[in-house]
Amino acid sequence: MTTVQRVLPGPRAQALIARDAAVISPSYTRGYPLVMERGQGALVWDVDGNQFLDFTTGIAVTATGHTHPAVVQAIKDQAEKFIHMSGTDFYYAPQIEMAERLASVAPFGDDEAMVFFCNSGAEAIEAAAKLARYYTERGRFIAFLRGFHGRTMGALSFTASKYIQREDFFPLVPGITHVPYPNPYRPLLNDAGFADYGERIVDYIENEIFQTIVPAKEVAGILVEPIQGEGGYVVPPDGFLPALRRLCDKYDILLIVDEVQSGMGRTGKWWAVDHWGVQPDIVCSAKGIASGMPLGAMIARKKIMRTWAPGAHASTFGGNPVSCAAGIATFDLLKNGLIENAAKMGEYMMDKLRAIQDRHPSIGQVRGKGLMIGVEFVKDRETRAYAQELRNAVVDYAFTESLLILGCGTSTIRLIPPLNVDQATIDEALLLLERAIARAEEDYL
Ligand SMILES: *Cc1c(COP(=O)(O)O)cnc(C)c1O
Repeated sequence: MTTVQRVLPGPRAQALIARDAAVISPSYTRGYPLVMERGQGALVWDVDGNQFLDFTTGIAVTATGHTHPAVVQAIKDQAEKFIHMSGTDFYYAPQIEMAERLASVAPFGDDEAMVFFCNSGAEAIEAAAKLARYYTERGRFIAFLRGFHGRTMGALSFTASKYIQREDFFPLVPGITHVPYPNPYRPLLNDAGFADYGERIVDYIENEIFQTIVPAKEVAGILVEPIQGEGGYVVPPDGFLPALRRLCDKYDILLIVDEVQSGMGRTGKWWAVDHWGVQPDIVCSAKGIASGMPLGAMIARKKIMRTWAPGAHASTFGGNPVSCAAGIATFDLLKNGLIENAAKMGEYMMDKLRAIQDRHPSIGQVRGKGLMIGVEFVKDRETRAYAQELRNAVVDYAFTESLLILGCGTSTIRLIPPLNVDQATIDEALLLLERAIARAEEDYL
């Protein structure tokens, strides 16, 4: 793809953005002015005919690339049969078949799984929190600072990513205690005497937080992102999730993992927890699950989910048949090669990014698993001072270089191409990214 000098946004995009401003909620967080016309694989065209490489996949959603033919066909076939009947009150095969697939890969060891379908990540979190309270008959939760779990009132109560997300929405659901997430690049606590910083954080929960909260009586669940997403693509130390599992076992607390962003093959395994062999009690999924059709799933151990009564929780649209058909097609593509490709391409991209890091002092750290990769920018590698303006410039310059990326955390970018991305596309994207970084360094370093 050749980069032509051009003015962005073009005239059609400008006109639409002006109309958008008149009628669309200003609460959305648009960074740069991309007005999409169509997409195919890792490519996106805007309404003025400009072509871009998409390393956002619409926030880690279009896992199979834009408009994958198998997914499009599944959607068309199902839409011609029926579009809705409500899985809450009736039965239909696509919902059952999607649940069977998810249950077959649920990370519960020998335990069987059951699935509750909804429409989004936030709804999957709501469902998990309700089930945890119902099953344990306890009210409190532990969650993590800089965690992101969605924006509905319940999910927002767990979210602690940016103050703008919570400001002016008080009061939220009570009883949720936030503790530091173990970010090994920016530790908050001294971990002397511990095997790793992850174990230090779990010790903090047990020996500080549980001094004023009675864990075995009050705490229903611990909600955690196995790799923090919106908070900055933070990979925890290896000891963290196993130690969290042990803590939960000790006090009969449910371990609830938010795999909305990290799950469904994104990290090169079905679930990010699979990298540590940790078996949670509940898994929340959405984003990449149906290649862009709205679908969320709360997957729980059968012994837990079978306890709640008809009417305890439901959703009119949840498990929509067209979404489930897209989910089934997506699942089968993931299983038949895309997850493996994500692992392989992830390693390839990580190696190339480390070489780019050697050439650019503003890159503090490259981290991630599979195709969930973060690049953190700093003003200075010694102090690790956040470089937010520089990061924002990298995102904006990448756009003018024809590469779509998104930020996360304070000064990190995330690289989340479709899971069927190839080496040539990665090479091209990183060429454009390095140009953007060079320009941003000229301005801000
Ligand atoms: C995006 C996200 C959510 C919320 O999902 P929505 O579909 O936007 O409600 C929850 N948890 C994580 C980890 C996410 O990345």
